[in-house]
Amino acid sequence: MGEASSVLVTGGAGFIGSHLVERLLGMGRRVVVVDNFCDFYDAAIKRRNVELAHGNTNYTLREGDIRDQAFMEDVFAAGRFDCVVHLAAMAGVRPSIEQPRYYNDVNINGTMNVLECCRLFGDRPSGRPRLVFASSSSVYGVNAKVPFHEDDRVEKAISPYAATKLANEVMCHTYHHLYGFPVVCLRFFTVYGPRQRPEMAIAKFIRLIHAGDEVPMFGDGTTRRDYTYFDDIVDGIVASMDAACEYEIINLGNSRTVELRELIGLIASALGKKPRIKQLPLQPGDVPITYADIGKANRLLGYDPGYPIERGIQSAVRWHLDHAHH
Ligand code: NAD
Repeated sequence: MGEASSVLVTGGAGFIGSHLVERLLGMGRRVVVVDNFCDFYDAAIKRRNVELAHGNTNYTLREGDIRDQAFMEDVFAAGRFDCVVHLAAMAGVRPSIEQPRYYNDVNINGTMNVLECCRLFGDRPSGRPRLVFASSSSVYGVNAKVPFHEDDRVEKAISPYAATKLANEVMCHTYHHLYGFPVVCLRFFTVYGPRQRPEMAIAKFIRLIHAGDEVPMFGDGTTRRDYTYFDDIVDGIVASMDAACEYEIINLGNSRTVELRELIGLIASALGKKPRIKQLPLQPGDVPITYADIGKANRLLGYDPGYPIERGIQSAVRWHLDHAHH
């Protein structure tokens, strides 16, 4: 008998990735993380995210860049992956407008390396690993029809970030079709909670309101988002690692929308403060609403998000206050 097979998590030191890694290790799975600890936000935060995992003998960290083909081939040759969860990416809509080439490079070329390695290596009975890919609700662009359904037309991305995720989904389908390995593309809807990326709205609002600083509110506060607690997202990822799927695109959201103004109010009341709001023009790339139809996730994955926004915000606020040093 050879060594037990393991799960590769790219981007495993990030917000969502580090929570997934902890869950998998808790389930007794062997996990290999690839992450380059890039400076999109403070790398020290990512080092802390994986601190808990370090003591676990089932955990291996391979520090490197998904754009480095030789490195990725070495990772795949050394590991025996029955499943690859590909989360490494440059995330975020607004910064992608500032750095479109960088987003394109990481998200397109990096994902191509992951797909090529899935083609070349693997440990499933079929010879190739199952791939779970982190896509995004942003692929829906300005979708007038709500809630967003996986079969809605999605060729109208309005940010470079969204366009890369859409292109990734298409290439995932191509590799599934040509080489037969199963692929699940999960469209995450605004994920929040402990360890959320510091530039994302909820983490930023908690910091600013706590400090008594002005909260920039883009637009009149009526834009709506479907906010999903990280634990629900991890449930969906883990379920898709075992689901009987060939190629599927699946929404993972909470299926309840919250207005921006309401969100700021919820955070302020969890902090026991009054927010000072500064209204600013809507930002390019921002969509007016995201709203997930989660019927397919429920049917295929048994997905049933358990965190209403009120409870999720309470726990996010508690965590951010405990970690207020950054
Ligand atoms: P994150 O930035 O915290 O995690 C991404 C990780 O990838 C980071 O640890 C980063 O260091 C790593 N990474 C970036 N470039 C890399 C490279 N070239 N090589 C190796 N590693 C690299 O972001 P997150 O919020 O945890 O998002 C995880 C995934 O989920 C991303 O693909 C993102 O696009 C997607 N997603 C997130 C959300 C959300 O609300 N957080 C919503 C939709 C989709």
